[in-house]
Amino acid sequence: MEGNGPVERRFVVDGMLGKVAKWLRILGYDTRSEPLDEAKLADYASRGWAVLTRRRSWCGREGVICLHQNAPMDQMRELHARAPLDLDEGRLLSRCIRCNDLLECVNRQEVLGLVPDYTFETVEEFQRCPACRRVYWEGSHRGHMLDRLRRELGRSLPVVRTATARSREGAGGPEAGLRQGEDFSPKH
Ligand SMILES: [Zn+2]
Repeated sequence: MEGNGPVERRFVVDGMLGKVAKWLRILGYDTRSEPLDEAKLADYASRGWAVLTRRRSWCGREGVICLHQNAPMDQMRELHARAPLDLDEGRLLSRCIRCNDLLECVNRQEVLGLVPDYTFETVEEFQRCPACRRVYWEGSHRGHMLDRLRRELGRSLPVVRTATARSREGAGGPEAGLRQGEDFSPKH
């Protein structure tokens, strides 16, 4: 637990927690979603992944976070209470909410015809998932999801900045989503 500096947390969610996986990907956490068995549980836990599950028989196991709530947002609150989440500008909105893959910046011309005309005319930067080819942009659905998450988890969700935010600066990328809508600065 100590001596190695901060390590980015990674999550793997058990079968029935797919919506929690989507919320975590909105925050940019590396989050896999797959059915788990004993062998996979042991493997993930040994490699430092946090395993999220609703299986009571796994509660108390090393590396396992057992969620008891039924609604996805309540499960997010429960998770946040046990393993605090944060808003890191270096990773927010950086992943496909379906695939978990890191998004790539894409030339505007390549999305012509793939997004609504109004969006194409008014949005400067687009990103695409290398796996499913889904196109993302500032103001799209996931941005509203992020706003909701921030409202639901409230002021307790700290804003942090990592060096990776800088490396993606040239692309506008995930940070752009922060500039729309509400101010993310923490108010004490
Ligand atoms: Zn995808």
